[in-house]
Amino acid sequence: MDADIIRILIPREEIARRVRELGEQIACTYERENDAGITVVTILSGALIFVADLMRQLPLKMKVGLIMVSSYAGPRTSPGEPKVIHGLNTDVAGRHVLLVDDILDTGGTLRMVRRRLEEAGARSIRTCVLLRKPAKAPPDVQADFIGFDIEDAFVVGYGLDFDDQYRNLPDIAVLREEIYARRRGGGGGNDRFASPNDQ
Ligand code: 5GP
Ligand code: MG
Repeated sequence: MDADIIRILIPREEIARRVRELGEQIACTYERENDAGITVVTILSGALIFVADLMRQLPLKMKVGLIMVSSYAGPRTSPGEPKVIHGLNTDVAGRHVLLVDDILDTGGTLRMVRRRLEEAGARSIRTCVLLRKPAKAPPDVQADFIGFDIEDAFVVGYGLDFDDQYRNLPDIAVLREEIYARRRGGGGGNDRFASPNDQ
């Protein structure tokens, strides 16, 4: 696996330090305004490892909800319209929701899931992302808590995949160009990314 990586963008120690800080910031925000507890809604699969670490830094009463969303269909390498693969498994009506995703890129995923939570009657919605690509994030989709701003490169590791692999890398890294090219069948094309199956 290491041979496929060209460089580490964020090492594991730095991720761990930042997740602790995010935990403090989030706990402080919710402690001030509610003691009824929160519902942490996680967008699978990319946010899987992030949320597991983050929730253990939150000494709050909480329920956990999951929703699986995909925005990469077929052999495309830039995100399309996000689609819900598995719907939300918990009732958020009247709940304070913390929505957690791996990365805020074009904002399509957070916009769509946020709308669903509003429709389901969430009392409040805040969003937390581990990564944000500020080059692309649109003004109408903001995250309340952000781990790191990164350059506009396709990254893997710490839950983020390429073709459903590399999620178990402990660091956030950039793969060698050959890995993407091989998956694309050696062709160039306009798409920057190859085709992760789900997020
Ligand atoms: P959006 O464009 O809707 O903000 O982001 C869509 C989803 O695409 C993210 O939730 C994430 O799962 C995936 N994504 C966006 N950028 C990257 C990236 O650099 N690496 C990986 N592995 N997934 C990404
Ligand atoms: Mg995702």
